Amino acid sequence: MRILLADAFTPDLPKRLEAFGDVSQDLGTVAEAEIVIVRSKTKVDKAMIDKAPKLKYIIRGGVGVDTIDVDYAKTKGIAVDNTPEASSVAVAELAFALMMALPNHIARADASMKEGKWLKKELERTELLGKTLGLVGIGRIAREVAARAKAFGMRVIAYDKYVDSSDAAEMVSLDTVYAQADYISLHTPLTDETRGMINKTTIGTMKKGARVVNTCRGQVIVDADVAAALASGQLGGYAADVYDKEPPEGSPLLSAPNVVLTPHIGASSEENLLRLADSIVDRVQKYAKK
Ligand code: NAD
Repeated sequence: MRILLADAFTPDLPKRLEAFGDVSQDLGTVAEAEIVIVRSKTKVDKAMIDKAPKLKYIIRGGVGVDTIDVDYAKTKGIAVDNTPEASSVAVAELAFALMMALPNHIARADASMKEGKWLKKELERTELLGKTLGLVGIGRIAREVAARAKAFGMRVIAYDKYVDSSDAAEMVSLDTVYAQADYISLHTPLTDETRGMINKTTIGTMKKGARVVNTCRGQVIVDADVAAALASGQLGGYAADVYDKEPPEGSPLLSAPNVVLTPHIGASSEENLLRLADSIVDRVQKYAKK
């Protein structure tokens, strides 16, 4: 069996997979591959699938499968799998770090210190204690964020189109999240329903000065509308790990005020990369036994 490990995982993963077949890390060998393993970088689109006549199984080490043309794979009888269970804590901790960075001005304080400035008076902080966090989507990652927010004394409300009740948060309508939340953290998959859901109209219904944290997908927000709302003060901050285009060259968010950005590192904790590698080996092992 030929396995194409298209993206980087832990250094020992190629060796571990050799127990099941020949492992290549060269995209040029896709024509021979029976299994293709990706993270976020390699997009398994129609063109790639057409180059892989022997392909039977695509595994994405990560949560979504929006980087894979699942419908087209299905028409070719190719199974598609992901590892949704592995990354929740890693992403939740980053979402929480981003949420804390905004009212504490961590990025601006650090940059200004290194420029020789002492902005002790200018950098006015606020606390998370007593504030309302509104989660959009109450899946695995959001539930981990909720637990951390409660430990900080926040009130946690959530809207999920497909979940009515949860022990993790008080379930409310989307309008209520927008109207009441001081912080909104986005945790939905990217779908036709969620694409562009944070836009000029919905931002207009948010509490003035609300801060939005996005660790789900860049296309869930409209960059230009978020940048305009930050400039007007309707939004008090925006922190993100994910972008419409990655890297987000030319995005108005790069020059908007009160923005904190990280380069899609939500799943990249050392511990999570080990969990991802274990999940992949487990899936390849099950496939090999069939
Ligand atoms: P999950 O499937 O456990 O939860 C997603 C939740 O969103 C579900 O409860 C679902 O019902 C809800 N949902 C779907 N459509 C909705 C809608 N229109 N409105 C409101 N809620 C909706 O997924 P998860 O593990 O919590 O991951 C969430 C997302 O985080 C992933 O889809 C992925 O895009 C993103 N992610 C990002 C990183 C990163 O590196 N930053 C890493 C992993 C995952």
